[in-house]
Amino acid sequence: MYYTEYLPRLNSISVVLDVPKGFFIDVSTKIILKDPHQLSIQSSQTILDFKLPLPITKFSITNLALQNQVLSFKLVLPSIKPDDSSVSTFMNQLDQKWSCNDLKKTPKSNNNHTFQFVCANCETPLIRSEMYTFKDMPSEYWYEMMDFWHCHKPESDHDHSHDKDYKGVLVPHDDHTVIIGTYYLLQKSNSNITDNVTCAKCGCILGEMIQDNVLKILKWKISLVYADQQERFDSKLFMYNSIIDKINSSATRRFKFKLDNAWKYLWVMNLGVKATLNGDTLVNALKVAFTDKIQEKDEDSYELVDIPYSEIVGSFINDLSSMHSKLPQSINCLTMGPTNFQISLISP
Ligand SMILES: [Zn+2]
Ligand SMILES: [Zn+2]
Repeated sequence: MYYTEYLPRLNSISVVLDVPKGFFIDVSTKIILKDPHQLSIQSSQTILDFKLPLPITKFSITNLALQNQVLSFKLVLPSIKPDDSSVSTFMNQLDQKWSCNDLKKTPKSNNNHTFQFVCANCETPLIRSEMYTFKDMPSEYWYEMMDFWHCHKPESDHDHSHDKDYKGVLVPHDDHTVIIGTYYLLQKSNSNITDNVTCAKCGCILGEMIQDNVLKILKWKISLVYADQQERFDSKLFMYNSIIDKINSSATRRFKFKLDNAWKYLWVMNLGVKATLNGDTLVNALKVAFTDKIQEKDEDSYELVDIPYSEIVGSFINDLSSMHSKLPQSINCLTMGPTNFQISLISP
């Protein structure tokens, strides 16, 4: 296993890799660049190749250490112009999936883009593009995301309910308009969808009814079909966007989620991470520490994140655990006082 991460402030790449038993470094050991994206460690008995998070041409090596079959070092890069991946700019670079702009990738016939949204479970067509006009939720309504973040108060002193408030959210006012939000579609009516917002064919839940009898269809419950393509909306993207949005709008990077009556605590350590992990390249990832248990005195420093879709939180926690298990053991945990964190990454 290996992990490399670009450290913009130090203009260097940290490298951690598990090496085979008996690996040692001597005068014949060479660290060479095979190509701008690939580094190779060559000793008399072993060759270890690994991918870099960004292309490089020159480097020097510091902090070389070999301990317990873990080799670690830093590649210091010649000075380059500062990285522009601040939080706000990298958020803007992410095209919203299935926005009007994104849907322009679908083929055109008679001047109209042709695509369908189908039930993700049974693939019954739900929305055919030729029957509707599509509109994005205007950008001034981006606080739609804030549904989930409004509450900063501890559980105890509560004088309001957590019923979602859709005031200010634009809703379609006729039957042939579909409004596209960041993670949902809004429709006035649809003969393929029941009043309980389930698929009329297979009965699986597609979303919920909101004010004025508007259907709110969750993007991860449907698939986009066009030409010979079929696309899913990964609910992970919703969690990722939600966390970025929360960081941008509040002073904290510590959050707590509730799943099956148990708390999960998440601390976002780094944003906009460029890294490689066992052959995969991660861009704009979040490096996070998570745990089930913190000290009682720290409870207030974690802000409640109220995600009303438990299946989304569940698969998010699963993703965190599986990413965690891919990291080299020497760097996959962090102990702070009595609290043990597991390290993981969230990539969009
Ligand atoms: Zn269905
Ligand atoms: Zn509240």
